[in-house]
Amino acid sequence: MVMGELSTSTEVLIIGAGPGGYVAALRAAQLGKQVTLVDKGEVGGICLNIGCIPSKALIHAADLAGKIRAAGALGIHSGKVRIDIKQLRSWKEQVVKTLTGGVRGLLAQRGVTVMQGEARFEGSNKVRVSTSSGNQLISFTHAIIATGSIPIEIPGFAFDGKTVWSSEEALTLPSIPKQLCIIGGGYIGLELGGVYQKLGSKVTIVQRGDTLLPFVPSEAVRILQRSMEEMGVSFLLDASATGLRKGKDLTISLEQGGKKTSLICDAVLVAVGRRPNTRGLSLENTSVKVDERGFVVVDTQMRSTDPSIFAIGDLAGEPMLAHKASRQGHVAAEVIAGQSSAFDNQCVPAVIFTDPEVALVGMMPEEAEKAGHDVKTGTFPFSASGRAVTTHSTKGFVKLVTDAKNGLVLGGLIVGAHASDIISEVALAIEMGATAEDLLLTIHPHPTFGEAIMEAAADAMGQAIHVSRGKVSAPQDDSTITSASTSIRSRSKRHSGPSTKKRSPMPRFRKPKR
Ligand code: FAD
Repeated sequence: MVMGELSTSTEVLIIGAGPGGYVAALRAAQLGKQVTLVDKGEVGGICLNIGCIPSKALIHAADLAGKIRAAGALGIHSGKVRIDIKQLRSWKEQVVKTLTGGVRGLLAQRGVTVMQGEARFEGSNKVRVSTSSGNQLISFTHAIIATGSIPIEIPGFAFDGKTVWSSEEALTLPSIPKQLCIIGGGYIGLELGGVYQKLGSKVTIVQRGDTLLPFVPSEAVRILQRSMEEMGVSFLLDASATGLRKGKDLTISLEQGGKKTSLICDAVLVAVGRRPNTRGLSLENTSVKVDERGFVVVDTQMRSTDPSIFAIGDLAGEPMLAHKASRQGHVAAEVIAGQSSAFDNQCVPAVIFTDPEVALVGMMPEEAEKAGHDVKTGTFPFSASGRAVTTHSTKGFVKLVTDAKNGLVLGGLIVGAHASDIISEVALAIEMGATAEDLLLTIHPHPTFGEAIMEAAADAMGQAIHVSRGKVSAPQDDSTITSASTSIRSRSKRHSGPSTKKRSPMPRFRKPKR
């Protein structure tokens, strides 16, 4: 210990106050633990400060501008849309402040000690935190690392905050460049590409592979790409950005199909992915192991290879999503409090907040086939949805992936307005071991976007009403329903309940207490 250095102790020390860390802190405190939460930045982490929340605020504002411009088709006419960038920036900042302030309030109410400072491990039960007023040594019984991820830089394109942006700079809305080049056709590039195009930039997206969003089925990507092209976004696929020359404008050197070309722009956003952030943590002073990609190795209880240290969120593996981080935060806190919790979810939904939105959960058809399922899909286009037609947003579809033998819902893919909201029904179906029949027989309010899930379930069962498939299938008999129930029970040990020959109005599966 250095003279004058403060030394304290806590039961649970959490490093990183993003959606993983702050949720873990609140849950651990709720379970009676003494908790200290350390972050070198702001409470809320990347998600609330420079990720999910500011991006969704800007997407909302840009969509609104787009909707006003398109309202003429409905007979609503207004003048030219003018963007006041200063006011937009300050509204977005207010949104962030409201939510981070809310989290701060919750942490205070639950008695969590919050410290601003950079933590680094001195051993398996001790960290040193550098704060603006000096260092503090904190010993702990358990620690949870939740330090998230950082953007990947590419050679020659070092972020300078002025014309070469990471998503962080792009979200500060420094300007609305006339020509914006985005390197990377993943979800961050596409979401922010949509924002800047609608705010007035001419956006070009450069993608190294031959498709955008490589983890999303091509039928969804095609609709999204066409829609963004209609908006004015240009795509250069199979193209690599190889260099950057800064002058009056930026000149980006490209290689596309073996040919060298270039692109002139005013700003470039590099969005080629993120990597786990273990920088500066001095993990070598602990027994925590990281894998070849830099993710901390954890088990299903979020324990690292060091018995007193847990890891959650972006740092603990794919998918790097806020809701996954929060769920893992619950698990780590509960395990530390002696509960038998585990990160054993059947699925993690993913949403791309583009126009139209894309959302997916569970297994896609190919993946389900590889896993040995006899796959049956059901599809419903939004062009046949009353709600979609009345809200002038008919692009896209719902596709439900089911098992042909027992009807189990295995996955869902949604492209269209409100995909981000209605995907949760498919996630719930997967978690509960529900069948297409369960979705079909659940009355959905009309007219809503959610009805499209019920309609896709009907299609999977050969009972589509609002789309024509030219063939009518025989109704299911009781034996089919019984065999589906049996198979669901054997599939998921977490769900148990009485065997039902006929559908019962009571829930068939109840989660056992963990
Ligand atoms: P983070 O939120 O990354 O927080 C980590 C925290 O650790 C930071 O506050 C950092 O300051 C702190 N820290 C790091 N090192 C130290 C240290 N040594 N000492 C102290 N503190 C430290 N996900 C979604 O689910 N939906 C979305 O719509 C979405 N949109 C996104 C948009 C953008 C532009 C970006 C960049 C990301 C988006 N994400 C989205 C991803 C989401 O932000 C992350 O998955 C999520 O923030 C991960 O949470 P976390 O708790 O693991 O860590």
